[in-house]
Amino acid sequence: MRGEELVVNEALKVRALPEGSYDKLLEFLKLYRDAVQIIVDRIWGIDEKLSWKKLHRLFYNDLMRLGFRAHHAKEIYVNAKSLVESARSNGGRKPVLRKLSARIDKYDYKLDLDNMTLTLKLHNNYEVKLRLVTPKERVEKFRSWSNYELVVKYDGKSFWISIYFKRIVKSLKPRTVMTIDLNFDNVTLAAYTLDGRRLRLKKLKTPHKKILTHKIWIEKIQKRYPKSWRFIKDVRRAIEKHGERIRNISWDYAHKLGDLVAELALKHNSVIILEDLEKLKENNKKRDKEFNKRLGLWFYHRIQFCVEYEAMERNLQVAKIDPRGTSSKCPRCGGKLVEDGHRVLGCKRCGFVGDRDVTATINIYKKYVSKYSRCGVSGVAPNAPKPDENPSRMQGNKNEAMTTES
Ligand SMILES: [Zn+2]
Repeated sequence: MRGEELVVNEALKVRALPEGSYDKLLEFLKLYRDAVQIIVDRIWGIDEKLSWKKLHRLFYNDLMRLGFRAHHAKEIYVNAKSLVESARSNGGRKPVLRKLSARIDKYDYKLDLDNMTLTLKLHNNYEVKLRLVTPKERVEKFRSWSNYELVVKYDGKSFWISIYFKRIVKSLKPRTVMTIDLNFDNVTLAAYTLDGRRLRLKKLKTPHKKILTHKIWIEKIQKRYPKSWRFIKDVRRAIEKHGERIRNISWDYAHKLGDLVAELALKHNSVIILEDLEKLKENNKKRDKEFNKRLGLWFYHRIQFCVEYEAMERNLQVAKIDPRGTSSKCPRCGGKLVEDGHRVLGCKRCGFVGDRDVTATINIYKKYVSKYSRCGVSGVAPNAPKPDENPSRMQGNKNEAMTTES
């Protein structure tokens, strides 16, 4: 599970125009580059591992003598060290710097987003003020973020500034668990309280049949023109058209589902449980049959991507579980479930009977609880929800289908 506090980093790259002459800024960038090069040259031959302390002792005074400020000096030797290390680990040659680029610590600049200006502190106490050339709306979202570092570059024509922002996302402690069971033709969403009561159940259709129809069309066309379909314009265009429909249908569905899941999770203050697709892939190698009932992996990826994205936008937590056995194990006794009518599974050992998809959500819930209850989710009861799921008593509306035609 994601931690309670999450740091989100983002860089904003903008063009910047110096107010007045930019000679001093260019001079600074050249001096900075040459200083990095000098240190690269000097530590290239040193085999021992250089600590920050040692770098400081070796180079700080020299850099100060060149007119740099304390944090300039630190950035310069840190930069040189990482250049040398990455060149060595790639088995490369000693780095030779040509580009004009400097990393500047927050102590050496002042960013004013109200007036869209940036003041940089340069060598020998020079300062330069730059105007950020970008629509104000672009920086608006960063107002509540903090920034800690930036990179100035000169590409021969313009100056570019990349400002590194971060913000700390505090996620709320989840009070419920949102499970999602994805199948070939339907999706089941169920929210459980931490003590195992089901609060909400929702079933939705997937557009997978529609996607398959387009796939079959593509295969048919390719079979009819096995060698030439790539080269006949109309044939290729027909294939592309079906491919585009598949893309549109699947993205459209994934966006809508992601939004719906996140909205429900927000409403119920849930942690969202997704199936670990890496594990699904592994499990799959052994059990191909089961997989045929499921969606294509690419479609899973797309849906998960959208669910995770929408969850992040709302500061919701997401956890992943190994999906193995979620649709074949009895949630009451762990026995093997067998078909007991249309979409109904039963356990011969303990007599449990339940809707196939709802049973899967109980198992997903149980997996989450057993995986995470010991590490910080307070109030999670070790017992499973009562297996009273019966198709005839389903709370959700079975026909609640999501439209996928746009
Ligand atoms: Zn059982």
